[in-house]
Amino acid sequence: KSAGRSRYAVFGKEMDTMLQARRGIEQDLRAALQADDQLQVHYQPIYSAAGRKITGAEALLRWRHPEKGWIAPDIFIPIAEEAGLIERLGERVLREACTRAMAWPITVAVNVSAIELRNPAYAKRVAKLFFSLGMDARRLELEMTESALTDNSGQCEENVKALREMGIRIAIDDFGTGFSSLSRLQRLDVDRIKIDRSFVKGFGTGNGDEAIVQAIVELARATALKTTAEGVETDAQATCLEEMGCDNLQGYLLSPPRPASEIDDLLGINPSS
Ligand code: C2E
Ligand code: CA
Ligand code: CA
Ligand code: CA
Repeated sequence: KSAGRSRYAVFGKEMDTMLQARRGIEQDLRAALQADDQLQVHYQPIYSAAGRKITGAEALLRWRHPEKGWIAPDIFIPIAEEAGLIERLGERVLREACTRAMAWPITVAVNVSAIELRNPAYAKRVAKLFFSLGMDARRLELEMTESALTDNSGQCEENVKALREMGIRIAIDDFGTGFSSLSRLQRLDVDRIKIDRSFVKGFGTGNGDEAIVQAIVELARATALKTTAEGVETDAQATCLEEMGCDNLQGYLLSPPRPASEIDDLLGINPSS
């Protein structure tokens, strides 16, 4: 019994430390939103599977903490969501990504949080931003996860509908990790599915991931959805995906996320001209 109690005490202490660390990050994130050199948007190029031409880039948020160094979005995005900071962060990324999209001849993709999508004002806010920038909505793709789309209020679907009416393209992120059916995606009228990198990782291990991806690609094609494979790290994976008929590839094999200036170089754009 006493051992059980002390285990609990240790657990309680760890919880405490964890909560404290979380609160620290939350506070620092508020400060980062005020500063302008801590938060940066990097872009990971996306290529056509056939021909390997750059067709797009995904905006990925980066935070350089003044003392702790780089903090990964997998850590700070969930904290931002809980702390009510995600909408400000999201707006920042979207604005930055739009200004890049206006200078680049490729589609720019931006991740949208479930919290943002549940806000009834989201689509209107995006429309307002586009109007103020003079941005062509067809140049932007918004990525959202299956779980972000499964809210009971129907608010997410309303937003998706309004965004699509503006001409924005919608991609389902991390596809295969949630529970949505392709028929639901068709009803939502999305444009693209991004096949989660866990499937690509399983290629060649004999656990059937190739068959799953092949089935996803074929069903997507039958319903006129585009497919992007995430996390492509090897030539063998890329070749296999291309043969399967996957439309686009993204991953370290082709390029890691890079600062915007490097995308300029990649595209042969001289921003000062
Ligand atoms: P995600 O949307 O699935 O983004 C892809 C992640 O995979 C990125 O991690 C990217 O750097 C990483 N990645 C790319 N190629 C490879 C590869 O070949 N192998 C492996 N193992 N990983 C690869 P990152 O940048 O750390 O972002 C993590 C997640 O944080 C994103 O996952 C996204 O869910 C979220 N996130 C990032 N930026 C934003 C943002 O501006 N807003 C929101 N709401 N979420 C964001
Ligand atoms: Ca994404
Ligand atoms: Ca993803
Ligand atoms: Ca992810």
